[in-house]
Amino acid sequence: MDNGKNTWGTPWTGSYFMKEALKEAKKAYKKNETPIGAVIVKDGMIIARGHNEKELKMDATLHAEMTAIKKASKKLGSWRLNDCDIYVTLEPCTMCAGAIIQARIRRLYIGAPDPKAGAAGSVINVFAIENFNHKVEVIHGILEEECSNILKVFFKELRAKKAGKHVWESLE
Ligand SMILES: [Zn+2]
Repeated sequence: MDNGKNTWGTPWTGSYFMKEALKEAKKAYKKNETPIGAVIVKDGMIIARGHNEKELKMDATLHAEMTAIKKASKKLGSWRLNDCDIYVTLEPCTMCAGAIIQARIRRLYIGAPDPKAGAAGSVINVFAIENFNHKVEVIHGILEEECSNILKVFFKELRAKKAGKHVWESLE
């Protein structure tokens, strides 16, 4: 564990990339999707981005991480993402945790925990299973408050909409 510090030891870098993942979450928010975003970083540069598009595209597999992994693989011309790190605003589910392991991603940086579906310790910890052939380093709590806040606001608005009320809230 490196507590969110990157390989050069600069503590702000982790939060910089998580902020970029949050930008993706905001894109999902604007599409009325549950606001979850992800970016994949290689050699200090963002090579792929993704946000949740499950509702819009009617596809249960279109989580932020899945889209980002697909884009990164396309960009690198390989399914192996060995030297890549992924930043996700919400703890990955079992599907995404599996994909992260399959893609051989080096490190996983998580924003907020997901007590209902999280597969990095909340419901199950897929990354702690010793028998897998690939080990991902997992770092929790990067910009946790911001990452969980965007979800809270989204669900608050959703409840208000269902109740027929209008809530004016800005995320900026
Ligand atoms: Zn997922």
